[in-house]
Amino acid sequence: MVSNPSKARADLHAWRERQPDNFFTSDRQLARLLRATLGEARFTAHEAHFTAFGAVCAGALDAAAIVNNRTGNEPQLDRWSALGERTEAVAHHPSYHDCGRHIYEDGEVIAAYADPAANARALALFYLSSHAGEAGHNCPVACTAGVAKALAAEGSAALKARWLPGVLTARYAERLDGAQFVTEIQGGSDVGLNAVTATPDGEAFGTTRWRITGEKWFCSNSDADLILMTARVAGHGTRGLGLFLVPRLLEDGVVNDFAVRRLKDKIGTRSMPSAEIDFNGAVGYAVGPVDQGFRTLMAQVINTSRLYNTVGTVGIARRARLVAQAYAESRVAFGQPIARFPLVQEMIARMRAAGQAVLAGAMRLAHHLDREERGELTEAERAWLRVGTNLAKMRSCQHSHRVVLTAIETLGGNGAIETFSVLPRLLRDNVVYENWEGTHNTLIAQTHRDFAKHRLHEPFLAVLRRDMTTGDAALDAALKPAREALDRAEDALGHILTHPDPGVAALMLRPHAERLGDALFAAAYAQDLLTEGDPTRRAAELDVLTVFVDEHLRVARPDPDEATAARFARIMALQD
Ligand SMILES: Cc1cc2nc3c(=O)[nH]c(=O)nc-3n(C[C@H](O)[C@H](O)[C@H](O)COP(=O)(O)OP(=O)(O)OC[C@H]3O[C@@H](n4cnc5c(N)ncnc54)[C@H](O)[C@@H]3O)c2cc1C
Repeated sequence: MVSNPSKARADLHAWRERQPDNFFTSDRQLARLLRATLGEARFTAHEAHFTAFGAVCAGALDAAAIVNNRTGNEPQLDRWSALGERTEAVAHHPSYHDCGRHIYEDGEVIAAYADPAANARALALFYLSSHAGEAGHNCPVACTAGVAKALAAEGSAALKARWLPGVLTARYAERLDGAQFVTEIQGGSDVGLNAVTATPDGEAFGTTRWRITGEKWFCSNSDADLILMTARVAGHGTRGLGLFLVPRLLEDGVVNDFAVRRLKDKIGTRSMPSAEIDFNGAVGYAVGPVDQGFRTLMAQVINTSRLYNTVGTVGIARRARLVAQAYAESRVAFGQPIARFPLVQEMIARMRAAGQAVLAGAMRLAHHLDREERGELTEAERAWLRVGTNLAKMRSCQHSHRVVLTAIETLGGNGAIETFSVLPRLLRDNVVYENWEGTHNTLIAQTHRDFAKHRLHEPFLAVLRRDMTTGDAALDAALKPAREALDRAEDALGHILTHPDPGVAALMLRPHAERLGDALFAAAYAQDLLTEGDPTRRAAELDVLTVFVDEHLRVARPDPDEATAARFARIMALQD
């Protein structure tokens, strides 16, 4: 064959052209999930906004995130003003603020919370913005959602009146964004080791004012307007921790009493500043009872941010697959587009299966969080939501990690090049997502406690079983391996949950916990497909569900045969 560099370069232009210019209108599954979750009337009311934001995310936001992440454009610590006043500020490249305007103003990702039970809508918007990776603001958005919820649920009336309107505004320049500082150098998973202290110092805003002293080791969005942080008011362990709202500026406009030591040089999420901070008697206000701080943190903040994490990583996964799929359709090797090779079709099919199953699970969790906030959940569904949120956080970022690696592999050498595509940055951002809001081990240990101590596996499995019976013969047949995985898990739990050593028990739980998370995704995807009105499309996506179930829920992944090859080929040809 004659070598033709111009043709190869033209093919790369075609690759760029093939990628969607709107992440919403190109995503039939998201629209289907939103119709089912929001209801037809609410979906219709918001459809134009989703459409507009989908275009922003694929266009202006993506372009600004690329510029913001270039070497030299990262945030810089800027502790003092020109006149020698302490600011503890961060200097950002203008592209950082472009990203922020797109996310907060165009996206209304936080303003969405002005409506009650707005999680599904807000998280769908967040999913779209996460196609651009962390983009400097997606972690802060998750933190700000937590601040909004904690304030609304547990803040005094005066605290709410003072800060909630600023938190919920869609105007970027006026917004008050949030941060969550929990981790200290001696422990992130073991929060009970927190040593930062809080001492009472009078009354303000209808609650006790406190002085916060000590060092926090990981402080993302370090220049946030409102910090929600843990500090010790008494004793040992998590019981002695309070939760405090620490404003960046005091009421007289002076910077609160904290000092930023340095910004961390991170593997990912590099356009968002993460710092080490000393609190030197900083003013804070209790959010909720101070002897219940850890409980408030988990209920209002961490559970929300774990769901954000799940949605953020599935946004990353879809973007990676879109890049890889367009590349496979454009790149020619050995005389044909690489998309025609069954081995490449397998890669695309597996990426797609993981992304679609996880998205269905994430939106089902978001929908149930809305129902929880409306007081509609049964006790069993509340257990499903609690356990499912933890398992989904763990599995979503594990799936995304593999999806991005597979996408990088699809691009060959070009996949490894920072300036060629978004993929290297997505991988680096995803590594951070895997760590924060609870490592995989922490989530398994918590699931073990929830099962062994609170018997939550019983209602969790009951709801999962219910969701796995769709009444559609083809879907129920596709889910058979998932139901069998549930049976195996239930059998194993009898032994695991009575094991005297919780460490060994957690080890034995891990494979089942992973499969339970995947079973939740598979069941949610089947429920999603029930709402697909076009029978041809439903049959086509049944292939996608089958690939997910075969890979993640069977005891042994079946060896591929001609039928497998035909299925991968059909998925390769499936439009989004
Ligand atoms: C870029 C970045 C930004 C961050 N931003 C913030 C922030 O804004 N606010 C904040 O509070 N934190 C933040 N974190 C911290 C993050 O939440 C913690 O790193 C995480 O919770 C883990 O804590 P650790 O680093 O202390 O690890 P450790 O808790 O020391 O864990 C080390 C290892 O031991 C394992 N392990 C721990 N306990 C157990 C157990 N019981 N069983 C089995 N294995 C166990 C863990 O899974 C992990 O693999 C950030 C982290 C990063 C990387």
